[in-house]
Amino acid sequence: MNEWNYDIFWKEALKQIREKISEIDNSMWFKNIRYYGSGKNKIILSVPSTFYKEQVTQKFSDLILSTISELTGSVMEIEFIVKQVTTQIGKEENTNGYKESEPKNKVKNSKSKQQITGKDTLEKNSNLRRDYVFDNFVIGESNTFAANACIAISKNPGKAYNPCLIYGGVGLGKTHLIQSIGNYILDNFKGMKVEYVTAEQFTNDFIRLLGEGEMYKFKNKYRKVDVLLIDDIHFLGKKMSTQEELFHTFNALYDYNKQMVFTSDRPVSELKNLTDRLRSRFSRGLNVDLQPPRYETKFAILKQKLETLGTNLDDEILDLICKNVTTNVRDLEAALTKLIAYGELLNKKITMDIAKEQLKDEFSNPRHGNITIDIIQKIVADYFNLSQNDLRGKKRTKAITFPRQIAMYITREITEYSTTEVGVDFGGRDHTTVMHACQRIESKLKSDPSLESIIQNLIRMIKENRINS
Ligand code: ADP
Ligand code: MG
Repeated sequence: MNEWNYDIFWKEALKQIREKISEIDNSMWFKNIRYYGSGKNKIILSVPSTFYKEQVTQKFSDLILSTISELTGSVMEIEFIVKQVTTQIGKEENTNGYKESEPKNKVKNSKSKQQITGKDTLEKNSNLRRDYVFDNFVIGESNTFAANACIAISKNPGKAYNPCLIYGGVGLGKTHLIQSIGNYILDNFKGMKVEYVTAEQFTNDFIRLLGEGEMYKFKNKYRKVDVLLIDDIHFLGKKMSTQEELFHTFNALYDYNKQMVFTSDRPVSELKNLTDRLRSRFSRGLNVDLQPPRYETKFAILKQKLETLGTNLDDEILDLICKNVTTNVRDLEAALTKLIAYGELLNKKITMDIAKEQLKDEFSNPRHGNITIDIIQKIVADYFNLSQNDLRGKKRTKAITFPRQIAMYITREITEYSTTEVGVDFGGRDHTTVMHACQRIESKLKSDPSLESIIQNLIRMIKENRINS
């Protein structure tokens, strides 16, 4: 027996966690976690597979850690071990097993332990995920330029491309890449200070510390770094005083050749509410875009993901996923995760029929969905800072005709409306106008690669809106 026994705390934590999560998350994940043992300030939990471990770590590590730490009053660690559920469940649940029964895949376990305790990460930069590294970023046509720029920056911070802005639609790997830069620099340039935040965190810090009269803390955090990584700057929207502060932060770092990398869901030219001087700063360095991956890249990403998880699926099933998931890598991963979870929960091999059945919602063709022209117009108008009436109205300035053409093009791409119907809803225009608009956008797509990511992003926003409504 060892002297620590946190069994009772785990039971209470589980109760509290269940109040905060959905029934699906509970039955899918928490019902399969067992208390396994304790160590000093540490709880060991068992899960049925590596896949589970990875998922639970990603989704719930913060929640589990904070609940347990709150209950015990000390900073706790959680360790997951993989243990197949056997018929002797009662025996598996003894409280002291962990010393005697070392987990089989010890190397992998200790890696995941780092992730869940956040120990390794905290020492360096509390915000970086240690699994966002270049090693597991699959490079293909859609992201070669961006990935290579990020690698070059990592090898030569402050010197290669400064600043750098990575832009692209949701789920295409912006966060993965920007964090890979942070991780690489921390691992290879000892003593360099790296700060990674989202624009939202940056904003919150600014407002809080300004309010508390402690701006020196803000400046210490953001101006005394060697590398500043700010994710999702489109979040800055109309927040003018935060933009002002970012502008000064930028100048302070730039003058000392400190590396800055930003990400955004659209090119700088499309960030309508950005002040001109901040816009000019972002445009100063290298701007690279991420496109949705093509078939081969999708396939390679799925293969790599399977390898990391130590599991497999038939190639024909991967083929099915790649052909049907056309949006982004996040959706691609979600489809894979769903299938693996299904197979593991029911202990079934995934066949083609199961895959089709399980993924039918993911694959549902938006052409048959209830996306309306109204929703498309609202979202496109909002994106370009226009009103819906602008898109329907008669004005023919470039600032309006281009978004209008995009809205028409998207309508034709993702709905079943005829060109005549589209014309009517866009202010009673003739169907030839709609055809002309679609041709214009198609030819522009060939010459301007950034347009592709704008359109993909808009389609994504439109689809999400459909699901929420
Ligand atoms: P974004 O920040 O652009 O919305 P993320 O960086 O969060 O997208 O990526 C979504 C998911 O897809 C993450 O799990 C990420 O690891 C994965 N991903 C994206 N691109 C790639 C890639 N080229 N190779 C491997 N994984 C990728
Ligand atoms: Mg992101």
